[in-house]
Amino acid sequence: MKSIEEISGQTRLVGFYANPARHSLSPKMHNLSFSKLGIDAVYLAFEVTKEALPTQIQAIRNMQMLGVNLSMPHKVAALDYVDELSPAAKIIGAINTIVNHEGKLIGHNTDGIGFMASLAENQIDIIGQTITIIGAGGAATAMITQAALDGVKQIYVLNRPSAHFKTYQEKIQAIMQATNCPIELISLEDQALVYQAVNKSQLLVNATSVGMYPNVDELPIDKEVLRSDLPVYDAIYHPRETKLLKVAAAKGALTINGLGMLLHQGAAAFKLWTNQEMPVDYVKEHLF
Ligand code: NAP
Repeated sequence: MKSIEEISGQTRLVGFYANPARHSLSPKMHNLSFSKLGIDAVYLAFEVTKEALPTQIQAIRNMQMLGVNLSMPHKVAALDYVDELSPAAKIIGAINTIVNHEGKLIGHNTDGIGFMASLAENQIDIIGQTITIIGAGGAATAMITQAALDGVKQIYVLNRPSAHFKTYQEKIQAIMQATNCPIELISLEDQALVYQAVNKSQLLVNATSVGMYPNVDELPIDKEVLRSDLPVYDAIYHPRETKLLKVAAAKGALTINGLGMLLHQGAAAFKLWTNQEMPVDYVKEHLF
């Protein structure tokens, strides 16, 4: 971590814009990396209101910041204030990273990249395979899009029949058109279709908030669908082992929590700002 005495007139700023923002692990992740690699930059969290977002994004240019990460509730609203979007961000319709190229702001979404990198780190190769993702919100959209772009054969998306279902249907249609990957949205209440989808899958992903602290006893899907040869990925990292992961592990399945996705979405953003690889092993050792 950079000590205050090391901050100079050359030190560049990277920000985290969210509300709330103070709980984030990102400042530590990036400051550890800047320090380890001797990069003269600091990463600070800012609690940015919806009203202040346009001004704060303009501040990236005015203050010659390297860029920012964005989280709730700004990932969609920020699209309107950047100059360009990465191809994945365009499809996803949300950004979690802005890179400042001499005043030109490029919006990226690294959540899906983080998910795929986290799978690779666990020796799970889903290219050419069938996967099922529970949830169709922001995290799920990024994961679905990146998996589809990278060459997954078929994606089943399970969601409860909520007021958002129609919007999810439209979004999935658009992702399918942009990526040419077959994606099917199924209601979680349609038991037979849910079972069929999971039975055909080589990976099950939870991208809902079901099971997240404090509701740690909740399961996002009927536990009977789990099997020993079905790896289970949970985007949640608080708690580190959700009920879903516990039940899957008890059945003998490989289980992975969302810490790797968090780390690798950060690593992808770090690369975009600095053109250098985040020292992920060092960060893991000191952060998790
Ligand atoms: P989001 O956009 O609000 O989406 C939430 C999803 O969960 C929606 O599909 C929603 O369905 C579903 N859901 C919520 N409550 C539910 C319930 N009681 N029963 C069934 N489904 C329910 O949130 P998000 O940003 O995608 O985040 C989802 C999860 O991913 C969170 O736990 C978050 O912490 C995690 N996440 C992890 C990372 C990482 O780096 N590891 C990154 C981003 C997010 P409806 O729309 O129908 O309500």
